[in-house]
Amino acid sequence: MALAYDGAIQRLIDAFSALPGIGPKGAQRIAFHMLSASDEEASQLVDAITEVKAKVRFCDVCGNVCESSPCPICADPRRDRSVICVVEEAKDVMSVERTREYRGLYHVLGGAINPMANVGPADLNIPKLLDRLKSAEVQEVILALDPNIEGEATTTYMSRLLGPLGIRVTRLASGLPVGSDLEYADEITLGRALAGRRDA
Ligand SMILES: [Zn+2]
Repeated sequence: MALAYDGAIQRLIDAFSALPGIGPKGAQRIAFHMLSASDEEASQLVDAITEVKAKVRFCDVCGNVCESSPCPICADPRRDRSVICVVEEAKDVMSVERTREYRGLYHVLGGAINPMANVGPADLNIPKLLDRLKSAEVQEVILALDPNIEGEATTTYMSRLLGPLGIRVTRLASGLPVGSDLEYADEITLGRALAGRRDA
């Protein structure tokens, strides 16, 4: 019995398997779904992927995803420019936005310090943050990193780095599920952690 499908269907299964959060069985299920989907449904998926690769970029100021830089948050005059919320990934911006507790700006580091994966401070978008902090407008930096070992290491590093700058540096209150990602915290819990932030 063959252990792999022939040609195109196996290539599609392999492509889905390579995506984060999709195991071999899930990949097979999606591939067979696409096989029975209408041509229109299949084209919509292809077009959405093509469009995202063509249009979406990262904001030159904060590193958030956007279609034109600066992103709508950086460009919004109603946002509070005295506070910058530092997050690991662009998807975390949306997690914080969904709490409706925050009206300041963001800075996306593009990861967290992780010696096991050879990710150090030099690999993160830190120089641009330091540049932004030269503006006298910024009075507080909130470190909203993932509640896991890498996020903790990054919070410690960042608070030591920013401490001497004379800007208030805070971190999320405890209460988030430990060992997980910011994106898995529900809006109420994350909103509370943000509102109850403490000095780092
Ligand atoms: Zn931006």
